[in-house]
Amino acid sequence: MTAIGGSTSGDRVDGTSRRVLVTGGAGFLGSHLCDALVARGDTVVCIDDLSTGLESNVAHLIPTGRFELLVADVSKGIDVPGPIDLVLHLASAASPPDYLARPLETLAVGSEGTRAAIEVAVDMSARFVLASTSEVYGDPLVHPQVEAYWGNVNPVGPRSVYDEAKRFSEALTMAWHRTHGANVGIARIFNTYGPRLRPGDGRVVSNFLDQALGGRPLTVYGDGSQTRSLCYVDDEVTGILALARSSITGPVNIGNPTEITVLDLANRILELTGSSSTVEFAPLPVDDPTRRCPDISLARNELDWQPAISLDDGLSRCIEALASGGRH
Ligand code: UDP
Repeated sequence: MTAIGGSTSGDRVDGTSRRVLVTGGAGFLGSHLCDALVARGDTVVCIDDLSTGLESNVAHLIPTGRFELLVADVSKGIDVPGPIDLVLHLASAASPPDYLARPLETLAVGSEGTRAAIEVAVDMSARFVLASTSEVYGDPLVHPQVEAYWGNVNPVGPRSVYDEAKRFSEALTMAWHRTHGANVGIARIFNTYGPRLRPGDGRVVSNFLDQALGGRPLTVYGDGSQTRSLCYVDDEVTGILALARSSITGPVNIGNPTEITVLDLANRILELTGSSSTVEFAPLPVDDPTRRCPDISLARNELDWQPAISLDDGLSRCIEALASGGRH
C-alpha cells in the first residue's frame, strides 16, 4: 500500500471532529465527494487502487493537509489506523466497458470490498453509506423506478458482474444492519456526469463529448431510443451527503428524473458544442436497459433533496471544463 499525503487529525474548522473514509475516492464521483468533504472541514482518508481512478483527480487536495490517498485494493482488506466517523463506499469500476473488462475484480470489490468497508464502519461505530446503483433495477418493467421495485436483472448476462455485485452489496449492508445494528444508508445512484469523467471512458456523456469535441462521429448504440436520466455530479454529491447526514437506511434513489433518449442526448451535445460531427449507429450492448428514470419522491420527502442543475447547464459546465484544459 502506498500512502500519499497525510491526515492524522480529524479536527474540523468548527472545532468538532470528523474523519471520513472514502473508498474509490480518486474516481470520478468519489473525487468530487472528497472535494466537498474537505471543503466543509472534514478530514478524508481516500482508498483507491487507481484501476479506474486517477491520482490527478485528488492531487489538489493533498496540500490541504486534510486529505490522504492510500493506494490499495479494498477487496484485499482495509487497514486504516485512527478513528473514522463516516464510511462512503464507492470503490468499483462504474463504466460498462471498465467493469466488463474486469469481471472478477468487479465481483470481488462488490463482495469482499463491501465486507471490508462495512467492517471498518462497524468497528468504528461509524455510519456506512453504500454507493449502489440504478443497475439493480436491470431492464426495468416498472417506470419510473421506485425503490420498492425489485428489478429485472439477467443474473448470468455480461452486466451481471456489476449488477449482481451491487445487489449483493445491498444484501450484505442490510444483513449487517439487521444482525449487528450497523448504521447504514444505501444510495441508488443513477447516471451521473460532470468534469473529471475520463474522456471516452465508455459512458455515454464522456464518449459523446470526446467525440463531438474531437470532430469524430458520435457512436449511438442501437437506434438511440433507449432512455437515461442524467444527474450533474454536484447534485449527486449533495444527495449522497444528505443521505450520509440522515439516519435513513433506504435504499434511496439519488438521481435526476429528467429523462432523455440517447439519440436526443447526442443531438443536444452536438448543438451545445457547435460540433459538425455526424451520428453513427452501432450495435446495442447485450442487456442494455431500454429505459431508466428515478422516482425521487423518497429523497425529496426524507432528505429534502432534489437536483438543481439542468442538463443543458451541466453539459455546458463540462464543455467549459474540457475547453479550458482543466478537468476540475
Ligand atoms: N451509449 C451510446 N453510445 C456510447 C456510449 C453509451 O449510445 O458511446 C448508450 C448505452 O448503450 C446506454 C446509454 O448510452 O444505452 C448509457 O450508457 P452508459 O454506458 O453511459 O451507462 P449505463 O446506463 O448503460 O450504465
